[in-house]
Amino acid sequence: MPIKVLDPQTVARIAAGEVVERPASVAKELVENSLDAGSSQISVEVRGGGVSLIQVTDNGAGIPSGEVELAFDRYATSKVENLEDLESIQSLGFRGEALPSIAAVAQVDMVTSTTGDRAGTYLSLRDGVITGQRSQGRSQGTTVTVRNLFRKIPARLKFLKSVATESGHIANVVSQYALAFPEVRFSLFLDGRAALRTPGSGRLIDSIVEVYGVEVAENMIELKGEAEAPLPQVAGMVGSPKVSRSGRGYLSFFVNRRWVNSRLLARAVEEAYHGLLMVGKHPLAIINISLPAHEVDVNIHPTKSEVKFGNERTVFSAVHRAVHQALVEQMPVPRIEEVAVAYESPSRPSQALLPSDKVSITSPAPWAPEVPTSPLPVLRVLGQLDNSYIVAEGPDGLYLIDQHAAHERVLFEKIENQRSQRETEVQGLLEPMTFEVSPRQEAVLQSHYQDLAEFGFAIEPFGDRTFLVRAVPALIYSKDWSAMLRELLDSLSEGDEGDWVEGVARSMACHSAVRAGQALSDTEMRELVRQLEQSATPHTCPHGRPTMIHLSSGQLKKEFGRT
Ligand code: ADP
Ligand code: MG
Repeated sequence: MPIKVLDPQTVARIAAGEVVERPASVAKELVENSLDAGSSQISVEVRGGGVSLIQVTDNGAGIPSGEVELAFDRYATSKVENLEDLESIQSLGFRGEALPSIAAVAQVDMVTSTTGDRAGTYLSLRDGVITGQRSQGRSQGTTVTVRNLFRKIPARLKFLKSVATESGHIANVVSQYALAFPEVRFSLFLDGRAALRTPGSGRLIDSIVEVYGVEVAENMIELKGEAEAPLPQVAGMVGSPKVSRSGRGYLSFFVNRRWVNSRLLARAVEEAYHGLLMVGKHPLAIINISLPAHEVDVNIHPTKSEVKFGNERTVFSAVHRAVHQALVEQMPVPRIEEVAVAYESPSRPSQALLPSDKVSITSPAPWAPEVPTSPLPVLRVLGQLDNSYIVAEGPDGLYLIDQHAAHERVLFEKIENQRSQRETEVQGLLEPMTFEVSPRQEAVLQSHYQDLAEFGFAIEPFGDRTFLVRAVPALIYSKDWSAMLRELLDSLSEGDEGDWVEGVARSMACHSAVRAGQALSDTEMRELVRQLEQSATPHTCPHGRPTMIHLSSGQLKKEFGRT
């Protein structure tokens, strides 16, 4: 064959192949365009894994009627003007390739309107050629509809995976940008099903709740920005070591809010977790790195998903340091319940949207410092179940509260408070009582008078393994305090000397709390719930066990098959 220059249509299709690898690439380019247009709402609708339909609707700036046609020309862009601009790209797009590339491999329709235009513009293209254009009413913003992707390229179609897999890739793209832009309200529909909705509140944690579920969100640690820090600035959230995943797909990196793949950044994060995760487990992280545009080259690949840093070492250590510091300090995320209920959507997906492996969350060890310390929302008591559980309703669903565990938590905090403020309520015994102990118990008791006195026990030796008790804490006056004391001395002589003070408080709380099987009046239940609402750590009892089970409205709907 003689050498010939290819015809423009063939050129366009070859070039398109670089940008549009699969349906998710189309979604990515369209969502990036919507973000560049300053949209605060972006809705993505997908059918047939994106092959039948990908439609992205935004409320951004729109395209002036005189420029709509031009938008589909190769290398036509409103985002950079010259070589200098290329050195400091602020927008997600800049190559002017996406729209023509998509139009080369699918049927595209666009309706767009700017504030300046009296009416919007409709444009349709088939095989990259404009086949229709007219004015059409539309509020400010743009809708791009892409149909029959790759229909004319059977080789590409053949390489696509199942509808579920391709839909999953699209869901991932939308999820990533939802994480990068929490101030934008995203919604995603897959074959008519609402798969993701974010509130657009501007808080990353709200996006995390929607993308990864409440369980993960409750275990995220915020990266503390250093106000005076030199660039690059590292912000975002990382999962506590309790949240781990069996794949690397849960590391999200954004550079100046552009979603990127980066082995360098992945390594920085994984090294910060060194020794904190079990073998084969990987962390979950959402990290944005801000640095001057000229210190990062985004123009190294047509999909713009890879970047090159001017100074890799600085970026690596900034990320490593930020993650490491956050993990060390184990900052619990405040007010996750509030976050979870702040956004009520009729079809909120209850849990992790992203497919594949499950999150593993190990239950907290007693006294683990990373127990979430979020307060409870206000709850309305509905009744008692099995004389053991309080059934209550919250702003987001149902709460089943273990009455014993909850009461233990409330009493434990009260006991600790009173002790530290030296306000322990003491009840003197009408007649001092003798208290006989074993040799081992005696040894323990002798070295801990003072500690016990702080809790309200007035105990003195009475000779021959006998002690005289003159007063006890008011809280356990009417309970079997001698049994409690004995148990305490036994458990302590077995060696947990270290937690003595906490051990006493825990034991007192346990012995004075209401038991399972005890009927409670409405007033008693309300009082207990009120006290639990004020607790600093209402979710676990002093032994580290959960005090309640929360079923969100979303989970309930899911259970009843109403997603
Ligand atoms: P690039 O994003 O690299 O500029 P594209 O081919 O993706 O190239 O888009 C071409 C141009 O069309 C953009 O520069 C922008 O001016 C306009 N455009 C595309 N999508 C939108 C949108 N959703 N809202 C407003 N303008 C858009
Ligand atoms: Mg673009």
